[in-house]
Amino acid sequence: MKRLLILGGTGDAVKLASLAILLQRGFANDLPELVVITSLAGRTSAPKSLVGNVRIGGFGGEAGLIAYLQTERIDLIIDATHPFAAQISQHVAGAATKVGIPRLVLIRPEWARLPEDNWIEVKSVAAAVTAIPASAKRIFLTIGRQQLAPFASLTDKWCLMRSIDPPDLSISLPPGKLLLDRGPFSLAAERELLREYRIQAIVSKNSGGDDTYAKIIAARELGLPVIIVQRPIVPEGEIVRDVAGAIEWLLDAIGR
Ligand code: NAP
Repeated sequence: MKRLLILGGTGDAVKLASLAILLQRGFANDLPELVVITSLAGRTSAPKSLVGNVRIGGFGGEAGLIAYLQTERIDLIIDATHPFAAQISQHVAGAATKVGIPRLVLIRPEWARLPEDNWIEVKSVAAAVTAIPASAKRIFLTIGRQQLAPFASLTDKWCLMRSIDPPDLSISLPPGKLLLDRGPFSLAAERELLREYRIQAIVSKNSGGDDTYAKIIAARELGLPVIIVQRPIVPEGEIVRDVAGAIEWLLDAIGR
């Protein structure tokens, strides 16, 4: 028997868990039994439904994760967290090395800047605050709900803030409106949103993937500046860019 831990919180992690389970059923006689456990941080109130076993909540740092890997006798670990979830990825890298188990990072490619894009690239969400052009007064903040606080200083702007769940109401927010919604978002809907709210600049992480790319296309069409936050560094190790690559790695790791 092999026990696989997937660090989740992304659509790719959901697909990976279901494919890993299907794969095992398909090759039932040729593969060792595979137990699939997905770990979620517990940030969203209604996470996407997942097949296999699910555990929710932080481990308690790298030390807590090491203890979990040992107690649960985990054999393999796939870090399929969001490209901006840097802390958990560091913990996974450290813990897997210390416990001595194979680790893979599944991280989708970044969005590439096209010549027609009007991107202002910044290294952090905090840096995005000061990079917003002075002339842009109506801003679309599509960075989730956890890092809105630095934008509270933008008292001369109006911000449309989109996230899946509402932000912590104890933090100060800039003047504007909260929009609770979950992707995927269509190009037609994103165009309409930018027009309806007369948006003049967008702040986005370079998350990659198709589900939230439409806003980048819509901004390109309208010639809007996009303040785009570059990704944190990925810990060294084996990396694949899609779920198919992760399944190949898994097959090799469990000895097909
Ligand atoms: P983070 O800053 O890298 O991690 C902060 C802490 O949250 C970690 O130290 C860990 O707590 C816990 N944690 C994070 N992911 C976990 C997981 N999959 N399972 C168990 N514990 C986890 O992470 P974040 O940026 O807050 O993101 C949290 C989750 O939301 C991630 O799973 C990520 O895939 C998902 N997500 C993040 C973003 C984003 O923009 N950051 C966007 C979409 C989805 P302990 O130290 O106590 O173990």
